[in-house]
Amino acid sequence: MQALTNRVQAVNRKPMTFLERLYLINIIKGMLITFSHMFKKQPTIRYPEEKREFSPVFRGLHVLNRDEEGRERCTACGLCAVACPAEAITMEAAERVEGEENLYREEKYAAKYEINMLRCIFCGLCEDACPKDAIYLSETFAPANYTRKGFVYAKSDLLIPNPKTEANAYAEAKGVQA
Ligand code: SF4
Ligand code: SF4
Repeated sequence: MQALTNRVQAVNRKPMTFLERLYLINIIKGMLITFSHMFKKQPTIRYPEEKREFSPVFRGLHVLNRDEEGRERCTACGLCAVACPAEAITMEAAERVEGEENLYREEKYAAKYEINMLRCIFCGLCEDACPKDAIYLSETFAPANYTRKGFVYAKSDLLIPNPKTEANAYAEAKGVQA
């Protein structure tokens, strides 16, 4: 058969020597590589006692934000849900009534707000879409759970502590010292 190029090489089919058939040299080579790793810096750490620093662009568990007066920022506009490519966010809006001005910043608020973490791909588009700075992705993992239901985070799981009444918990959630 005529070759298309001149790069064709015949396969070397010469029989293995006695030493090659023992595989000893290759086994020793492999063991030396393994042994040399004992003196290298270990890439693993003893989690959870030791923790790595997150990358500045790490995107973890969502937090529903409050303003400096402790009022919920979310106005249930639904833009985050529309932007979400995984359709992980659902919410129900409610009207703020008189006397609730200290609870909700806008006239409309999210009576129910849920994120299904099994669907979420932590892309951060919900954060980008929000016009009220009401949702952001923190530096916390979504903890493991035994049931699927446990991965559906309700508003009570996502809402940041109130900076007025729970200053320490708020600072901790924000990742800053109180
Ligand atoms: S991070 Fe992305 S996938 Fe997760 S809820 Fe937000 S928009 Fe949806
Ligand atoms: S989190 Fe932001 S984008 Fe989503 S409903 Fe609330 S205000 Fe709108």
